[in-house]
Amino acid sequence: MCTYLTELEAPSLFKKLVSLDEAKQIIAASFPSKPVGKENIPLEHAYNRILAEDAVAPLDVPPFNRSTMDGYAVKAEDTFGADENRATALKLCGHVRVGEPPKVTIEKGTTAEIVTGAPLPEGADAVVMFEDTVQKEDTVLIHTSVSRGENLMKAGSDIHKGETALRKGQTLGAYEIGVLAALGVTDVKVYKRPKVTILSTGAEVVEPGEPLPAGKIYDINAHAVSAAVIECGGEPVNLGIVEDESQKMETTLKQALSMADMVITSGGVSVGPTDIIPKVLNTLGKPGVIVYGIAIKPGKPTTVAVINGKPVFSLPGHPTSALMIFQLLVRPVIARMARRPAEKPRTVKAVTATRMFVARGRRTFVTVHLEKNEAGKFVASPVPLGLSGAITTLSKADGFIEIHESRQFIDAGEEVIVHRLKPNLY
Ligand code: AMP
Ligand code: MG
Repeated sequence: MCTYLTELEAPSLFKKLVSLDEAKQIIAASFPSKPVGKENIPLEHAYNRILAEDAVAPLDVPPFNRSTMDGYAVKAEDTFGADENRATALKLCGHVRVGEPPKVTIEKGTTAEIVTGAPLPEGADAVVMFEDTVQKEDTVLIHTSVSRGENLMKAGSDIHKGETALRKGQTLGAYEIGVLAALGVTDVKVYKRPKVTILSTGAEVVEPGEPLPAGKIYDINAHAVSAAVIECGGEPVNLGIVEDESQKMETTLKQALSMADMVITSGGVSVGPTDIIPKVLNTLGKPGVIVYGIAIKPGKPTTVAVINGKPVFSLPGHPTSALMIFQLLVRPVIARMARRPAEKPRTVKAVTATRMFVARGRRTFVTVHLEKNEAGKFVASPVPLGLSGAITTLSKADGFIEIHESRQFIDAGEEVIVHRLKPNLY
């Protein structure tokens, strides 16, 4: 007969419940989180990728001295002394268009009409805006004095030929992609994204889109974890749902390992009779399971293995726990493999609204809402983890508080640090 164990009996089943810090050390010692390679990709696919080599400018940007105004190209000294009441008359000797080399040369006492973005003609060293001129047939009256270099952008003033315009390791956002386009780049060398196969377990779990018979639930974890993998620079491959049956689990895990740099499973790591993952993992290769149970709440059954150099993170089934463990343990590993720049901790100070208790001997993570009080201080109130299976806990929470296992509780009104879960909060 199958019996489930109580919360109190369960810890003894985990061979060695390690602290969160020990778990991180064991993972770091067993798996070096090296980049998985480099690849050339078209610029239009480069958004949010990490540059794998310095981008050295093969040309000046802009490539020529360029007018930044519609007006007249002049020798600056010809305008000296001119103002609203005293004009300098220059002879109009031509027009300069955009996209063409100038056909005129500016001699002393002459000018040429020029538009924004057009190359400055030979002999000119400044541009006078239309607003400061009056044109009468082939004479232009200049009503302002300009200094050398005014209203133009010098060749190479944005980026010099030979200059390192972007550095290896930079994240390619809209501005960086703009820089590469200015250099005429069509292909860019970036770090490969670590491929992460994701699988869900359990006879009760059904793929969204399928009918939902009595007793079944839709697969939340694979989809939420896929999105989380993308967020930290990985490339998820969702392998779907596996039954809690050793042979099938072994076959699927082998396939998952063969096609990826990392495997993430959810469910099947507790102490119930269908929780077979740790045992199966130990048959797949060396060193096998390296962490089996962490003194943490939520997420105690978390299991980590390394199989022939590839990590397998087996998250608990509860979506809230699975995502929390992903944030704490998996995200930093994927980010390092993807060579993403170290993330600045996104934290805010807050005072607690109520007393918050620590699960005995376990590092406790309390998900919280943030609100500002009348004094403008953040107040953190817990989003109940009692709804442990609820995905809404994390989607409603603004962040979490980490309480050390050495404490019994955090009192109401204590100042705490809240780790933000959402990037653009406040
Ligand atoms: P387990 O760790 O497999 O015992 O699962 C713990 C709880 O999480 C159970 O209520 C499961 O039904 C639920 N669960 C497991 N996997 C998933 C999943 N992929 N999506 C949503 N809930 C899940
Ligand atoms: Mg299960």
